[in-house]
Amino acid sequence: MIAKSMEPFLEGGSAIRAMFEEGKKMAKVYGVDNVYDFSVGNPGLNPPQEVYDAIDYINHNMDPHHVYGYPSNAGYETTRQAVADDLNERFGDNFDMENIIMTAGAGYAINIIMKCLFDPGDKLVVFAPYFVEYANWARNFGADTIAVPANESNGFEPDAEALRKVLEPSVKAIIINNPNNPTGAIYSRESLEAVAEVLREAEIKFGHPIYIISDEPYRELVYVEKKVEFLPDIYPNTLIAYSWSKSLSMPGVRIGYVAVPRKADGSEELSEALIVAGRVLGANNASTIAELIVERCIKARADIGYYERNAKDLYDIVSGAGFECIVPQGAFYLWFKSPVEDERELVKAAKEERILIVPGRSFSGPGWVRASFCIAHTTIMNSEDSFKKLGERYFK
Ligand code: PLP
Repeated sequence: MIAKSMEPFLEGGSAIRAMFEEGKKMAKVYGVDNVYDFSVGNPGLNPPQEVYDAIDYINHNMDPHHVYGYPSNAGYETTRQAVADDLNERFGDNFDMENIIMTAGAGYAINIIMKCLFDPGDKLVVFAPYFVEYANWARNFGADTIAVPANESNGFEPDAEALRKVLEPSVKAIIINNPNNPTGAIYSRESLEAVAEVLREAEIKFGHPIYIISDEPYRELVYVEKKVEFLPDIYPNTLIAYSWSKSLSMPGVRIGYVAVPRKADGSEELSEALIVAGRVLGANNASTIAELIVERCIKARADIGYYERNAKDLYDIVSGAGFECIVPQGAFYLWFKSPVEDERELVKAAKEERILIVPGRSFSGPGWVRASFCIAHTTIMNSEDSFKKLGERYFK
């Protein structure tokens, strides 16, 4: 009954979602306050006041046909221009509204990019550990994914020399997710420049562009004095997939965009094709009310300071319990090493202490685990004893 091509997705399932359901069951048994659920990346903060004000303004002052009707497929021109102006102001680029296509979040942005770049048999390259959906999305368009092995020794920065070894003529795109889910790393300019150099050589060798898909839902979630590089400055063939899911703390609203730099190969043709891709994939357009909200909230942000405190306190608790952690520089994940080779054993032991964390192999990063800290600060503080007990199982 169900198509064969659907089978791999069903078999894979989602360890993260399963953990989330498990958390709900455990909360019923032990009480919500006694379960420490670090499994999913669903922002716990409310959107900033500007979002509520914008909704109020839109509903009371704008023509309902404009707010609730069909926009053009790429989105409202005013919204696209506001995004272009904001990017130009912040990064000194020269985007115009034609280079911006509004989408239902970063997930949809990446899907329309892939629809435009991949023919069956083409390949996507990702750096392990990576957000699991990338490979599923590539498969939608008949493309296989090659994972560049993780480089633990350099804090999980992308490894340009390892990238060189996997590049082949069928590779049409690579994804860079910075700040990173699941490691919390912000990549250095040096590593990104090295990646760009390897890609430029490969483009010449294979005679076609290799695009970087820059997945940026965590761009503004930064907790250290480190710049999140603007990739088109380093590599012109970069297509940006942005989302307000995290920066405005409204993932259910589904709003983001693709930005195509003018200097990218085939920029005009690509921008046109991306608009058609949204239509043929059935989205037609991004939500109109969401476009109007973000247009009015272009400078607004959720309370990033809240996550910064969570990052610091969770790092102190988990490293204090004896675990080797990567310092979260951005996004909202703590990535720490399992003291036993098969990290699923650690995940199981953590569950006995009522802590829910995700095994690294869900991100092709075995031997490590991910704890999401976009949750209530009290949950983090209350988890200290449980983490201590978990640590004592291995380190005492
Ligand atoms: N990319 C990464 C790395 C993510 O972590 C997520 C969501 O958690 C997405 C993309 C999808 O974001 P959106 O809600 O904008 O589709």
